[in-house]
Amino acid sequence: MTQLTTESPHVTAPAPLTATDRCDACGAQAYVRATLATGELLFCAHHASRFSESLKATALAWHDETAKLHSEA
Ligand SMILES: [Zn+2]
Repeated sequence: MTQLTTESPHVTAPAPLTATDRCDACGAQAYVRATLATGELLFCAHHASRFSESLKATALAWHDETAKLHSEA
């Protein structure tokens, strides 16, 4: 009965994306982290919007920091 408390030690508050996080599709700076059952994918704003429709249906979590693009531009 310990499954819920000890199964996933890495599940904490989502870490913010940084300049070292890169889009898995093109290598640009990532602003979105999609957590899937099979692992994590990072996307730039461009590829996040391109893939969001198909990925959001199966993603366990969708961490979107694209607002940073507008606030820091
Ligand atoms: Zn990209």
